[in-house]
Amino acid sequence: MISLPEARRIISDHVAARASEATSLALAHGRALAEDVVADAFYPSGDRSMMDGYVIAAAAGAGSYRVVGEIQAAQSPDRALGAGEAMRIYTGALLPEGGGRVVVQEEARREGDVVTFERIAERRFVRAKGSEAKPGDVVLAAGSRLGAAELAILAQVGAVNPRVIRPPIIRHIATGSELIAPTETPKAGQIRDTNSSLIRALVAELGATVAEAHRCGDNPDALAELASGPCDLLLISGGASVGDYDFGSATLRRLGFKIHFDRVNLRPGKPLTFAARGEQAAFVIPGNPVSHFVCFHVAIRLAIERMAGLAPHWSFLHLEMRSGEPLRPDPRETYWPARVAAEDGRLVVTPKRWSSSGDTFSLAGTNALIRVGATMPAAGLVETLLLGGLTD
Ligand code: AMP
Ligand code: MG
Repeated sequence: MISLPEARRIISDHVAARASEATSLALAHGRALAEDVVADAFYPSGDRSMMDGYVIAAAAGAGSYRVVGEIQAAQSPDRALGAGEAMRIYTGALLPEGGGRVVVQEEARREGDVVTFERIAERRFVRAKGSEAKPGDVVLAAGSRLGAAELAILAQVGAVNPRVIRPPIIRHIATGSELIAPTETPKAGQIRDTNSSLIRALVAELGATVAEAHRCGDNPDALAELASGPCDLLLISGGASVGDYDFGSATLRRLGFKIHFDRVNLRPGKPLTFAARGEQAAFVIPGNPVSHFVCFHVAIRLAIERMAGLAPHWSFLHLEMRSGEPLRPDPRETYWPARVAAEDGRLVVTPKRWSSSGDTFSLAGTNALIRVGATMPAAGLVETLLLGGLTD
């Protein structure tokens, strides 16, 4: 049996980013950028006004000026500004030659062709040419995750076909002859398959997709056939222990996968198996839904992030714990489902009920995992892994 940190190291060592591909802005959301993106021009392209008002020379002071023109945001100034002159200017418009400061319109008194400023603010209200980026400046580094802000940057520099890492093709196979579809009504001994829905949504939350999902009963040949389909990442649900029907590892071995570990000092989720074959990786995940949930967040997510070229999410916050289920320390590294919420301007964490790893209902509202070791910290703060992107 290996420790979880060691398991995570092994996963990192055996899983690499997929190839890059050119995509469109619309399809790039959530992907990792495969190469640096640089500015194609000066931003702003020239000195631009930050306000609606009047432009005058940089060194000009209070007094009266002759208004000799007007520059709207879409226009280029058609003449330079001379001594004693001002031009009406709007937010975003380019300053004329000779112009260096903008006086906001609230500070201006206009009478016909003459504008008077009683006083001049220290601030010039000008965005200088190239002050945000110059041609060739890296505006997004390779490896950046393309969220809303990053997509806006790509659009601004005209990088409309960014090279991104292709997300992994994921195949999920649920084993267990007791499983039926969620649409069916269980007969004696049957249960509805919850893990297929769980995994599909967890994968989607990372910005990837489950390309194929199947159920194969407890039939090793059917599993072998389904597991032979094309994919980058194979997720086998159930069949991870050492019972007579736990044939996940054996099937992977039969297919030429090398098993790198099949026991982790982890609760829940001890019988987690990881295997690789060439560029492909596979997990056999213990079938209990709570184990499935935890194994996904502490191990499988790492493999998906690596394949997708994304930085691994693995940062813990030390949060004050609210009373909830009393946590039981365990020599096994334990990940306790919990809910983090803001209270009086601070984040606090409340552990969920945990009666058994099969208690799916207890997971409702879970957005964090509390890490517990052999001893509990004496005073209040517990190590908490947020499952959303707050700490990304
Ligand atoms: P296993 O890992 O196959 O020994 O399964 C452990 C427990 O999880 C058993 O009680 C299974 O019935 C349950 N289980 C396995 N697969 C699923 C699934 N897809 N959905 C819900 N429960 C499952
Ligand atoms: Mg089973």
